[in-house]
Amino acid sequence: MAEHFREDNVAAVGVRLDAEHPDGMIFDPHQPQLRVTDLGVVRGDGIFETMHVLDGHVRKYDAHLERLRRSARMLELGIPPESAWRAAVELGLEEYRARGGVPEELMVRLTATRGVDGEPASDDPEYAGTYWALLTPAPDWAKADQAKQFSVTLLDRGFDADVAERAPWLLLGAKTLSYAINMASKRWAEAHGHDDVIFHTTDGQLLEGPNSTVLLVNRRGEGETPQVVTPVLEAGVLPGTTQGAVFAGAARAGWDLGYGPLTPQQLFDADHVFLAASVRGVVPVWRVDETEMAVDDEITEALRGFLAEDLPVSHPGE
Ligand code: PLP
Repeated sequence: MAEHFREDNVAAVGVRLDAEHPDGMIFDPHQPQLRVTDLGVVRGDGIFETMHVLDGHVRKYDAHLERLRRSARMLELGIPPESAWRAAVELGLEEYRARGGVPEELMVRLTATRGVDGEPASDDPEYAGTYWALLTPAPDWAKADQAKQFSVTLLDRGFDADVAERAPWLLLGAKTLSYAINMASKRWAEAHGHDDVIFHTTDGQLLEGPNSTVLLVNRRGEGETPQVVTPVLEAGVLPGTTQGAVFAGAARAGWDLGYGPLTPQQLFDADHVFLAASVRGVVPVWRVDETEMAVDDEITEALRGFLAEDLPVSHPGE
């Protein structure tokens, strides 16, 4: 059977990590690599991170590696040490250099799965599963998203705001490979004339997008700095690295920072709504269901400027 690859995939570089290759080993991502019994595939039992590389520099590198470790802890999944992940990414970048240059913008996806059922890849628990980094030039759709204004629909995520604490086995707030629900919600949004989704709990708390964090901006009195607010982690959202970096920059600029609980009404009452994610950056929302929201280029550029400072990220309560 003929195989078809999109241009951007052809230029992808894969780096595997295993006990024999703790500094990584290049593989061809266009060839089959995984066993069909890998638990990452058959159960979605694994974790990942998607990072943005600009001009050869991984943005928010520490925050992503810290969140990978956090997700691994929540799933009780052994993963290679941070130095191995960094070596794998560096090897991938080196491969681009050898091929003629690192593209200006890359997406780097780190993936760790529980490996093949009953056949640990190594006796060393840090290497018992399956691990790789995939480097891909930022695809056209990602670049288009960076420049777009978003229409979003509010959708029920089907759990209440207490469940994350009450039922830790649901792994809310971990970045697991089980994203079928997230992708289904995006298809639902598109089928109903929207670009993306903002989830809320059944008891009416704002959560996050299927692959983004929600930011609300409120302007205050004349001459005062604005306020930027995001839902609390305790409601069951992923600690966003983009949100964290924006908040760090905003704090330095004297903005007021706020953390939910937030209701959909607070979103409609906000002056501006944004979605934030690593490759997309900060993008303005112009419509939430049937309600138009104001978009302000100056505020958008201010938030993007905070992100560009790439300051260390921290989240309250962590
Ligand atoms: N929330 C979810 C569920 C996500 O999957 C993502 C990223 O894809 C985010 C939030 C945003 O996280 P980050 O800013 O670290 O990319």
